[in-house]
Amino acid sequence: MIKVCKFGGSSVATAEQFKKVKGIVKSDPERRFVVVSAAGKRTPTDNKITDLLLLVNAHIEYHVDCTSLLASIEERFLDLARELGLTFPVAEYFAEFANNIKSYSPQYIVSRGEWFTGQLMAEYLGLPFVDAKDVVVFHHDGTVDMQRTQTRLREAVVQTGGSFLLPGFYGATVDGQLKLFQRGGGDITGAILARCLNVDLYENWTDVSGFLSADPRIVDHPRAIHRITFDEMRELSYMGASVLQEEAIFPVREVNIPIQIKNTNAPDDPGTIIREGAREHAMEHLITGIAGKKDFVAIHVQKAHMSNEVGTVRRALSVLEHYNVSVEHIPTGVDSFAVVVNGDDVKDTIYSIITDIKKEIHPDAITLVDKLALISVVGRNMSRRAGTSGRIFGALGEAGINIRMITQSSQEISIILGVNNSDFERAIRVIYQSFGDDVVVSENANRVQK
Ligand code: ASP
Repeated sequence: MIKVCKFGGSSVATAEQFKKVKGIVKSDPERRFVVVSAAGKRTPTDNKITDLLLLVNAHIEYHVDCTSLLASIEERFLDLARELGLTFPVAEYFAEFANNIKSYSPQYIVSRGEWFTGQLMAEYLGLPFVDAKDVVVFHHDGTVDMQRTQTRLREAVVQTGGSFLLPGFYGATVDGQLKLFQRGGGDITGAILARCLNVDLYENWTDVSGFLSADPRIVDHPRAIHRITFDEMRELSYMGASVLQEEAIFPVREVNIPIQIKNTNAPDDPGTIIREGAREHAMEHLITGIAGKKDFVAIHVQKAHMSNEVGTVRRALSVLEHYNVSVEHIPTGVDSFAVVVNGDDVKDTIYSIITDIKKEIHPDAITLVDKLALISVVGRNMSRRAGTSGRIFGALGEAGINIRMITQSSQEISIILGVNNSDFERAIRVIYQSFGDDVVVSENANRVQK
């Protein structure tokens, strides 16, 4: 087995965290490739190095002196080197960086968070440092040139003797122009490395023990999710339960390399395994997780004989497209439909949108329902079992919670409910309690038993 381990900003924020990382990497010889983020917050009120570097860029842009800001960034790296007894010449490299700061691109400046953190961690772990600018190759449009990246990463494996540290979050075009992934993009670097080297497992080390089946601020001690499929994870993250930078799943998903979310501060916790299918376990939970978001808006449109007309919904949707508003759901009736959108996306334009829809399709009535919360009940095992939605609706009905909208995702792995914002937390608790720890026997496990 070969593993890629990616450590996020909180896992490399202090000397104490560096020691935990070393303990984790050294305890398993299969952990041969390490990716790091830039040092993150040491305390809840502290700043991430990446945020400070973005601030450096803003200072430069507005011609404000950033000497003391740069000094505070350098201090963090100097502290780490001192506390861990490292010989990497932070002061020397940082002086060069600070003295030439105006000559660098904004991307280069931000990437130094990962670069310095990576240099320190590489020395501390005794691993060769491979610079991401030499191996993660970007096209000019900001997408990754996977073919070149794979070739270069494989060369790096040979050159380093089969184990190295790679800073996350950045890479470069073939002509050396530095490029960044989106925020949180160290996860993407880890996934690309895992894929290009075709490893067996991508471990993503963070500060939580994986996905929880509900938001712990709403449900008391929700069950941890041990196994989840990529689709389920997409549904839950989209609705707010985010642990991993979402783009990170695509490179590994295509080749079905599992991702394991692990907690640097509690390395023995099992964490969450994300993979296609979940074959080998006999007992599985009926509901994998519940997540949701508030503040959606539903535009209800009524038009007699609409069902006999062609193109009405399309024309209404083209109005939203014109305003660049993405559509979440479109529940339809015979002579009516609704378009559910994110409240934030239409806060300045909703009345112009309604006026334009009126002009476009001449409806009999348009009504607006705002302060709508959407709750997604996610579970790969729901689709094969009758009665799940009945139980959800029954529980909500008994609790006196009015359901304003119902839809189901196309692969039937989630049931999405609209409730009033004011019922949101209670609805999640009611659904969670009504399913609690319900388990089902997986079909594949049955087959094995027979
Ligand atoms: N350091 C970058 C950020 O803060 C990338 C990462 O942490 O993955 O967004």
